Amino acid sequence: MQPPKRCKYCNDVSEGEFCGEECEASAIEFQEYVDRYSGLFLLAAVGPILLIIPGFVFFDYILVFLAAMMLVLGSTVIVFPFVTPETVSMFGVKKSIRIARWCGYSVLLMGAVFAAMFILMRQ
Ligand SMILES: [Zn+2]
Repeated sequence: MQPPKRCKYCNDVSEGEFCGEECEASAIEFQEYVDRYSGLFLLAAVGPILLIIPGFVFFDYILVFLAAMMLVLGSTVIVFPFVTPETVSMFGVKKSIRIARWCGYSVLLMGAVFAAMFILMRQ
C-alpha cells in the first residue's frame, strides 16, 4: 500500500501536492526567499567557519573565535532556515524551517556558553 500523500508545506495528509492555497502560497513564498538569499546564506555560513584560522594563530583566544563563529552561524541559520531538499521532502517545508531554526538557536546557545567560558577563564 502506498503511504498517504502529504502536503509539501505543512506535511498534513493531503489529496494533492498541497492541502490548500494557503500552503501552496507559503511554499512558493519560501522558495522565492531561498532562491533570493541562497548565495548570501552560503557566504554567511562559510565566512564564520574561516574564523577558525585566526583562532589557531591566536590560540589563547580560540574560545572567542569559536563563540563568534557560532553566534554568526546560529544567527545565519535562524534568518535563513534553509535545509536540504531531502529534509524538506521528509518533513515538509514548515517543519523543516522549525528544525533549522531550532538548530540555529542551539548553535547560538553554544556560542554564548563558549563566550561565558572565555570570560570565566580570564578571571
Ligand atoms: Zn498544507
